[in-house]
Amino acid sequence: MSDNLLNVSELKNYIDGIWQNNVTDFATVINPATGKEVVKVPLSAKADVDKAVEVAKKAQKEWALEPAPMRAEILYEVGRIMKDRKEHLSQLLTLENGKVLEEARGEVQEGIDMAFYMAGEGRRLFGQTTNAELKDKFAMSVRSPIGVVGLITPWNFPIAIATWKSFPAIVAGNAVVWKPATETPIMAYELAKIFEEAGLPKGIVNVVFGSGSQVGDAMVQHPDIRVISFTGSNDTGRHIAGECGRQLKKVSLEMGGKNAVIVMDDADLDLAADGILWSAFGTSGQRCTACSRVIVHKDVKEELESLILDKMKELKIGNGLEDGIKVGPIINQAGIDKIKKYIQIGQDEGAKLIAGGNQLTGEAYGDGLFFEPTVFTDATIDMRIAQEEIFGPVVSLIPVSSFEEAIKVNNSVEYGLSSSIFTRDVNQVYRAQRDLDTGIVYVNAGTTGAEIHLPFGGTKGTGNGHRDSGVQALDVYTEWKAVYVDYSGKLQRAQIDVE
Ligand code: NAP
Repeated sequence: MSDNLLNVSELKNYIDGIWQNNVTDFATVINPATGKEVVKVPLSAKADVDKAVEVAKKAQKEWALEPAPMRAEILYEVGRIMKDRKEHLSQLLTLENGKVLEEARGEVQEGIDMAFYMAGEGRRLFGQTTNAELKDKFAMSVRSPIGVVGLITPWNFPIAIATWKSFPAIVAGNAVVWKPATETPIMAYELAKIFEEAGLPKGIVNVVFGSGSQVGDAMVQHPDIRVISFTGSNDTGRHIAGECGRQLKKVSLEMGGKNAVIVMDDADLDLAADGILWSAFGTSGQRCTACSRVIVHKDVKEELESLILDKMKELKIGNGLEDGIKVGPIINQAGIDKIKKYIQIGQDEGAKLIAGGNQLTGEAYGDGLFFEPTVFTDATIDMRIAQEEIFGPVVSLIPVSSFEEAIKVNNSVEYGLSSSIFTRDVNQVYRAQRDLDTGIVYVNAGTTGAEIHLPFGGTKGTGNGHRDSGVQALDVYTEWKAVYVDYSGKLQRAQIDVE
């Protein structure tokens, strides 16, 4: 495996079907597993966004008139090309993001699944027909595209999240201006190439690389971008929501999480420990759905703890492109610093550190950014490590005495993305799925593992009520239009001319 998986040293914006070379300012993308430069990414300006919006606006008018099944044909082709290139895309994804290759393959597969699923929507895009209240009158509601949509995506799932957003937007007849995270631009570059090869008309997807404060802000402020779909941190999301609110611009936000696995006293503890390890330390804990709290019944706490500690010995940490690695690097130094800060906070708060807690340095790790999988125990509901998103391989065990207390602790955080319960009691299963205040609930599985045909998103501080993926994503990228056809040949007044 080598670092020369990419055949270019500098990326270019993709606007109006043309690879632009006007930008002269660049940032360097670093492989977090090696510290080596991977590629340079343009730092574009507002003028590049303006240009992308202008061409998108023009192209969208034609695109919206294409029958949806024909728009969908392009997505089938996109899915086919992605499938052919799955291994190459996965390796590039590991190169720029660091997640282990097996997980990168899973992420690319999500994108492939999303392509075929959303292509199928081209032959559905269902509206509703219903009865009118007057004779000889017909009523229906249909989905209409909105126009130009702006997508702002994070570094931790650089291809999956982009497909959750762009594919429904495209099939519904919109044009897209997309700003990927500066840390991980390669997936955007590759996906733009795939759109081009699949025959997507010019201007329907435009990729503008650059920082959030320049390119992202210019998109949020642009009057002709009528929807912003954002995934990222709460601070950024709140800021964007405020700006969009002032402009009455539709905004879909998917943000942070503080997800918990609940382990009841009747659970299969071995299975629970496997689920905890996978969801707490997979992607080095840098998933919005990562498990960072384990709410455990006090009667099984000790046994669960020792199972977790035992299984952690198997976690090999290193470059995700190498065989047998289970935990890859942290995306950047700021990520490492944040994790270290929370390790200190946890200790100061009185939680007991029983595993990990250190950055891994030395010859074996070179210039890579690695952090030990870390476990705190005897944490309490009010501690910051039990409330705030750490975004690293750190999990805190919180002992509880009952099912009711477990639900209360789960729901005690500002976030509401994903939760899980391990139990063999069917009554607890159904009560939990009702009472857990999160957008996603797992039973006898960890907190990660969403499938693309179901809605993805969270309650409370995680989002603002919209969903990525699933058929529900179409609600972000379409307006509902109510259509009445009166075939009585006379004026009929609703609510008045009723018999
Ligand atoms: P982030 O710092 O908020 O960045 C996300 C995106 O927003 C990046 O493309 C960033 O650009 C851009 N951005 C930053 N400031 C902006 C501004 N003022 N205006 C417009 N755009 C701006 O988040 P992150 O650190 O990349 O991602 C990690 C966070 O995402 C975590 O909190 C995680 O939980 C969350 N996440 C949520 C989900 C979900 O579905 N709920 C999924 C994945 C991740 P640059 O970075 O290029 O400057």
